[in-house]
Order: sequence, then C-alpha cells, then structure tokens
Amino acid sequence: MQNSHRRYVIVGNGFAGTTCAEQLRKADSACSIALFTDEPYTLYNRLALPPLLRKQVSEQKVIIRDRAWHEKLRIDLYLETLVDRIDADERVAYSGEAGYPYDALLVATGGRPNPCESPGASGAENVFNFQYMADTLAISHQLESAKTAVAVGGSFIAYELAEAFASRKVETHWLLRGSRFLRRMLDEIAGEMVDDAARADHVHVHYGEQLRELVRTNGEVSKVVTESGLEIACDCVGIGLGLTVNTELLEGTGVEISTGIVCDDRLETNVKGIFAGGDAAEFFDPVAEMHYRMGTWNNAGAHGKVAAANMAGGDERYHDVPEYSSKLFSEQMITQFGISPEYRSDLETVRKIDREKKHYRALFFWKNRLAGAVMIGKGNRAGKRKYVDAIKAKQEFNPGDWESLLDWTAD
Ligand SMILES: Cc1cc2nc3c(=O)[nH]c(=O)nc-3n(C[C@H](O)[C@H](O)[C@H](O)COP(=O)(O)OP(=O)(O)OC[C@H]3O[C@@H](n4cnc5c(N)ncnc54)[C@H](O)[C@@H]3O)c2cc1C
Repeated sequence: MQNSHRRYVIVGNGFAGTTCAEQLRKADSACSIALFTDEPYTLYNRLALPPLLRKQVSEQKVIIRDRAWHEKLRIDLYLETLVDRIDADERVAYSGEAGYPYDALLVATGGRPNPCESPGASGAENVFNFQYMADTLAISHQLESAKTAVAVGGSFIAYELAEAFASRKVETHWLLRGSRFLRRMLDEIAGEMVDDAARADHVHVHYGEQLRELVRTNGEVSKVVTESGLEIACDCVGIGLGLTVNTELLEGTGVEISTGIVCDDRLETNVKGIFAGGDAAEFFDPVAEMHYRMGTWNNAGAHGKVAAANMAGGDERYHDVPEYSSKLFSEQMITQFGISPEYRSDLETVRKIDREKKHYRALFFWKNRLAGAVMIGKGNRAGKRKYVDAIKAKQEFNPGDWESLLDWTAD
C-alpha cells in the first residue's frame, strides 16, 4: 500500500516498535517514520539480557539493530528522547516543547519494573531491577565482587536473576512470597519440579517470605531481613516484582487504560489513529475471546506487524497464539503457549507427569476447546505445533478425549 507522505510516530523502540517501523517502510517508501526511545540504545534483544548477565554473550551481540540499519530504512530514530504528551485532537506527539505531527501513532512503551518499597531499598547502590541494558551492566559489575546475592519475587525476572547469580558462582538466595514459582500458572507439582531444578544449581529457595527491611552499611545493603525473621547477609539484591505499564504520555487523550493500553484485535485504541502494541497493550485476542496483556518477545513482534498494517490503512486482525520457552536453571526447560489459569480462572486442566524423566505437561481447556498449555522438561515439547494449531483453529474436543491429547507427538 502506498500512502504518500503519511507521517508515523512510534513511541518505544523495543521489538514491537522497531518491527512496526520496519513494516511501515516495507509498505510505503514515501512515508516519514519517527521512532522514539528514552533509552540510549538502538533495538537490543531483551531475551539476551540473562545470557549477557551470565557472561555467555557480549554486549555487541545483544544489540540487534544499529544506527546504519535505521538510516538505510530512513527511520528517524530519536534516542534518549522521552515522549511525554500526546495531543490527540491535533495529532501531535510531544517531547518537551518539540512536537512531531502524525497521521497514525503507535504506543509501544512497554513497562518499567516496580521498585522495591521495603525500608532501606531506595537509593541503595547494590539493589537492582532487571529490565534494561543499563540494569544488566550494573548488576554484572556488582557480581564481579559479590559473594552472596538475593533475588526477590516469584516471577520470571526473579528467576532469571537467581539463575544468573548462581551461574556466576555467587551464593544465591531466592525469596518468594508465595508457595512456588509462577504460582498463578503452575500447580504444586510443577512448582516442586522447578524447586528441584533450583536446588540442583545450589540456589537456596525460601517460600512464604517477604522483605521487612534491607539493612544498609555505607550506602549499600549488607543484609536483608524478612517478615518471618530470616536474615541473609548479602552484597547484591535483585528485584523482580512485576511491571507498571508506561501510559503517562496518554493522559488527557481519552485513550482507555486498564491493566495496559486497551485496544482491539486491530491494535487500535478507542481513539482513532492511536495504536498500542507489545507489553504495553491490553489487546483483544479473538482466539481466547478476551482482553489481556502478554509480555513476550514473539507477541511484541506480532503486534508490531499487525499495528503497522492497520496504521497504513489496512484491516489486519491479530490472530495468533502467544508462546514462549525458557530455560529453568541448568536442568529444566519451560514452554507455555495460549492462555493459562493466570489469565482466566474457568479453565479445566488435564495433566501428565513423569517424575523420573522430570516431565510435566498440563493442557488447559475452555468451552471444550484447547486454550493453552504448560510443558516442563527437556525434550518434552513433542506435539507443540499441533497444539498451537488446534488452539488457533478453535478446534473442539470431547472431554472424554482430553487426556489422549497429552500424548500428541507429531511436531
Ligand atoms: C530480563 C528479561 C528477560 C526476558 N525473557 C524473555 C523470554 O525468555 N521470552 C520472552 O518471550 N520474553 C522475555 N522477556 C520479555 C520480552 O523481552 C518483552 O515482552 C518484549 O521485549 C517487549 O517488547 P516491547 O517492544 O513491547 O517493549 P520494550 O522492549 O519494553 O520497549 C519499550 C521501550 O519504550 C521505551 N519508552 C517507554 N516509555 C517511553 C516514552 N514515553 N518515550 C520514549 N520511550 C519510551 C522504554 O524505555 C523501552 O526502551 C524478557 C524480558 C526481560 C526484561
């Protein structure tokens, strides 16, 4: 599609925003594309931040698009430029006094990590979140001399921190408020299997623990104290307590905000011409028939593509099954696709567990349809493509047949 001199503004140069910019240029050689980030980096691979922290890849390998790539595609990239206001009536995005008019706008601003609110945390030099390149480099530097580190939280980010601490041969403690990792998604048995994997990597896992205080010595935390009275002397604390979506720039625009920026399956918000994508979007998934937010790399890329098509005047619908896989310490692997009980409580579950092989498989059904799955275990992903296709096609299964799906093998 050729839209002469259409002006596009994209806020956020993560995978969603940068994919969108690339697609817009493919669709229209004459348009102008302005891509903004408040970070000092061109697109980098957030999935590679844990390997960077584990010192398995270099900083250069993590950066996946350079300046020259943007120049070649004539994408005007603004680094270290916070977009702080949108005038939706005049269709102008502002960074301070500078205004950037648009015909269509994508807000792909992701989320910022929630800070640790416990006494002693604020301003401490050795307490870190783990979301940005800058966080990764700072934690990595701290780990050069750290003897004991504490990861806090029951999320993937807290897991990644614990894993990296342990792999850097630092004595590692992992504090979780709940009774297991990802407690809204995994059941007790799956939680035990992750626990086994953590302990096999010499991680001390503490459940039902909440921080009471971080004790400081000369500006640095030297000890964490929990509500139950557990005390751990440490010299590095990593925090994984969830994200807050960056929506402030949309204040006053009338764009609906809930847990994220609410948009339809075209990724357009209730304000015409304003689109949302990636971690920031609370999008409508026509397969699961609900709005939700999904914080995965593939989903961000898929959103970037759909948003670009619609910003350029097309009518493309998001129709995908979000999925991701991750290592779980040295001995385990997790794959999740579709939705899980974390997203809706009325799913029905069938399971297959082989403790000897360390395999776990749960399939989630909704309205007689396969809605999602969690698989734990190296080599336990057989049939994955078939499951994803069945979810996408909204295929129905009799409850009597659900168990047999657990043995699907064709990939
Ligand atoms: C450590 C880590 C490990 C991960 N591991 C996995 C994994 O194994 N598998 C997986 O699928 N996903 C993983 N994820 C999640 C995945 O990386 C994200 O879902 C994805 O990168 C989100 O992309 P995005 O484009 O939506 O947003 P982001 O990548 O968050 O990009 C948003 C950008 O917008 C900028 N910004 C925000 N507000 C403004 C503003 N007002 N003006 C200008 N710029 C702004 C932000 O600073 C940021 O640079 C991981 C994430 C992290 C942090």
